[in-house]
Amino acid sequence: MEHKTETKLKGIAAAPGISIAGAFLYKKEKEEITDGNITDLEEALVNLDIALAQSKKELRKIFALAVDKLGEKRAAIFEAQIMILDDPVLIASLKERIIKEKKLPEYIVEDEISKYTDIMNHSHEVYMKERSHDIEDIKNRIIRNLKKKKWTSRITNDVVVITSNISPSDTVLFSRMNVKGYVTDFGGLTSHAAIVARSLNIPAVVGLHEATNRIVEGDGVIVDGFHGEVIINPTEETIKIYERKIEQLHKYDEELYKLRDLPAATIDGKEIQLLANLDVTEEMDFIVHNCASGIGLVRTEQIFEEYEEFPDEEKQYEVYKKLAEQIYPGTVTIRAFDIGGDKVLPVDLQEPNPMLGWRGVRLLLDNPHLFKTQIRAVLRASAHKNIQFMIPMIASIEEVLESQRLIGECKKELAAEKKHFDKNIQIGIMIEVPSAALMTKEFSGEIDFISIGTNDLIQYLLAVDRGNDIVSKQYQEFHPAVVRILQHIIKEGKNAGILVSMCGEMAADVFAVPLLIGLGLESLSVSASAIPQIKKIIRSLSFSELQKLADDCLKLKSEQEINVMLHDFFNNKIQDQIKNLF
Ligand code: PEP
Ligand code: MG
Repeated sequence: MEHKTETKLKGIAAAPGISIAGAFLYKKEKEEITDGNITDLEEALVNLDIALAQSKKELRKIFALAVDKLGEKRAAIFEAQIMILDDPVLIASLKERIIKEKKLPEYIVEDEISKYTDIMNHSHEVYMKERSHDIEDIKNRIIRNLKKKKWTSRITNDVVVITSNISPSDTVLFSRMNVKGYVTDFGGLTSHAAIVARSLNIPAVVGLHEATNRIVEGDGVIVDGFHGEVIINPTEETIKIYERKIEQLHKYDEELYKLRDLPAATIDGKEIQLLANLDVTEEMDFIVHNCASGIGLVRTEQIFEEYEEFPDEEKQYEVYKKLAEQIYPGTVTIRAFDIGGDKVLPVDLQEPNPMLGWRGVRLLLDNPHLFKTQIRAVLRASAHKNIQFMIPMIASIEEVLESQRLIGECKKELAAEKKHFDKNIQIGIMIEVPSAALMTKEFSGEIDFISIGTNDLIQYLLAVDRGNDIVSKQYQEFHPAVVRILQHIIKEGKNAGILVSMCGEMAADVFAVPLLIGLGLESLSVSASAIPQIKKIIRSLSFSELQKLADDCLKLKSEQEINVMLHDFFNNKIQDQIKNLF
């Protein structure tokens, strides 16, 4: 057997933890369509049916979103595509050919549908040529879904997924298959996929650039999500070192678990509310285990993703009600769908500049039907008074007022229908766009609470894509402008007498926590796996020294100075085994 040498690659540490496992290469885009033979006819036909059904669901969801914004006429394109997927002649000819030729379904789909597009492309009519793109779209969608089915059925338990880029939905899908780690060529620290990996407690290293070229399927790999390192084909000796680290980690977790019922209070008695972020329903166990005092952010986009079709009021109501029951008497903060940006917007609706485009509240207000369905479901689930509702991506007061108007309308409707809901449900906004940050005072007059979304706030304040590893050095949470804008939001929110919380990833950064508390934040919402550690840090510090630390940071004018100050503080003050893990 060929002897493979140990190699170390360095990337961005995206989700903490250490894993040792075999590599599974997920190269979804590069696979070519071949005319290979099938071995199991039954399975091939079932896979075709699944891919067709999946394609139809996707198109229905796109149609639901597109109809309000693009108008009936343009959205009709998607409706026409759905009709093609229902065409019995087409489906029969696909199946007949698979049965007769015994070729792979994706090959037959490519070959058969291309016949139509070729004829259309040769037509002299412009209209026909244009329609051929729509048919091409359908073909690609079916093939994509056929391949996805194939990839996911190939994956075995306990592997590390190596891929060029990973979507949040793939991250969730893989986590259900007990994946042990993620390694990607591209992606940044606060990309949504990285957040999901952290939430699910799966170590991840992103932005390695050459992982998919250097790692071969079946290679042994170690993922060190603390240091952003990936070791390919480790020697026995290296494996032993990392196995010892994993053991230490387990011990450390047990130690942290002992703090479970103690408050997150500083030595001088300042109590901080520690809440959990919830990305996928699977996390509920972690949340209860780590004893969060509530949920500070439910990213409901995941529900939208999961259901494939637009989930109706009843379905959503069931989901929110269950969450509220599970965390009772704690409170759940449900965030309205933040669709768009890097999250779950179907490929077909993607824009040249999605992060600056149609996302969050913009998309919701353009789709009042979709928004109101969610508001009604949330209101109904709030009957036991432990739900709050929060709007993402607010940039102007009009968006706040219009959202409030729709909430008021839904309340009236429900009251007329004699349905129960919390009449005093707390309504909040995310502050994640600089314009909203600057206007905290004015916005505070219209709402009950604020949650700071640093993932986006930093991206928009510094003009740095949060998901792009090439500019990850410029994505600086300790940039003086970030520290100063945070101080502004916290001060203005408090002056207005409303609760200010933070649910961006910065709240889970152990180096940032002392600064945030010093700036006056009294509530942090982080992924459940980070709660015990943050509690331990808070319990080892005094609020008065944190206030001084924050004052000192506010006087500095470069990121580097602030970074050094916070790292020095951490290294001097938090002298226990936490330090060895970083
Ligand atoms: C944020 O922007 O900080 C945030 C919490 O929202 P998301 O990461 O879902 O965009
Ligand atoms: Mg955000």
